[in-house]
Amino acid sequence: MSKLHRISIGEAELVALQDTWALIPPGDFFDEVEDGAWNAYPEHLTTDGQLTLSLTQWLIRSEGQTILVDTGIGNRPTVFPVQDEPALPAVLQEAGVSPDEIDIVAFTHLHFDHTGWNTVDRDGKPMPLFPNARHVVQQTEWDYWAGGAENAASDRATVLDPITEAGLWDFVEGEHALTREVVTLPTPGHTPGHVSFLLSSGSEAVILLGDAAHSPLQVGEPEWCIGADVDKVTARRSRRGIWERAERDGTAIATNHFPFPSVGHVVTVDGTQRWEPSA
Ligand SMILES: [Zn+2]
Repeated sequence: MSKLHRISIGEAELVALQDTWALIPPGDFFDEVEDGAWNAYPEHLTTDGQLTLSLTQWLIRSEGQTILVDTGIGNRPTVFPVQDEPALPAVLQEAGVSPDEIDIVAFTHLHFDHTGWNTVDRDGKPMPLFPNARHVVQQTEWDYWAGGAENAASDRATVLDPITEAGLWDFVEGEHALTREVVTLPTPGHTPGHVSFLLSSGSEAVILLGDAAHSPLQVGEPEWCIGADVDKVTARRSRRGIWERAERDGTAIATNHFPFPSVGHVVTVDGTQRWEPSA
């Protein structure tokens, strides 16, 4: 199955790149949702009752800049139940992009499954995979993890510290323009400095969601949170806000974790919002 999906947004190009994917028992992930509640959503589970979680990253080509949004889980051993070998560099190559052509790595947040390919080991030492890229992260997000939060955080020594040593971080706050077409859209809750990105070009637009939601069923169930959502009240508010905005404006949504290629629209059917995949 292809791990690459190209979309044009006005003058810009957006490419879905699948690093890998995982199967997870839903109760392990949505730990506050009662088991019986899943019976209403068989379409979101495999036949043996598991959630399919893609690990999708997004490449944007906008105004001469090549931007990678998040860097996947990486190739170090992980307890996360991935179903195939993480492959982001190979998929990037298939898209015609070498790591040193990336101008900007933009982070939605700093969890381990969004920062893994920040580095690769060379001679036993973790080295930046994207040596020519500014690595753009929200100051609030950095402060939270640098301040000692550990739950589901990246392994600092292997994926954050080498970026610091190479002087590649840019710390920004709130709404920040990566190009005139790409701006951050604060969507806190999953983590304190979590952001989405709005890519608008010509008459078209797409929201790159990040982890403001993890499953398409959260379009209809915006109250459902996963255990790793740091501030669940704020996460719910951010999620509802994005669904409302996207449906009102007809804006597509490109996600990190919905089944690949992880892109679609929010539509209302019989009075309830739901996810409609575009491909
Ligand atoms: Zn994630």
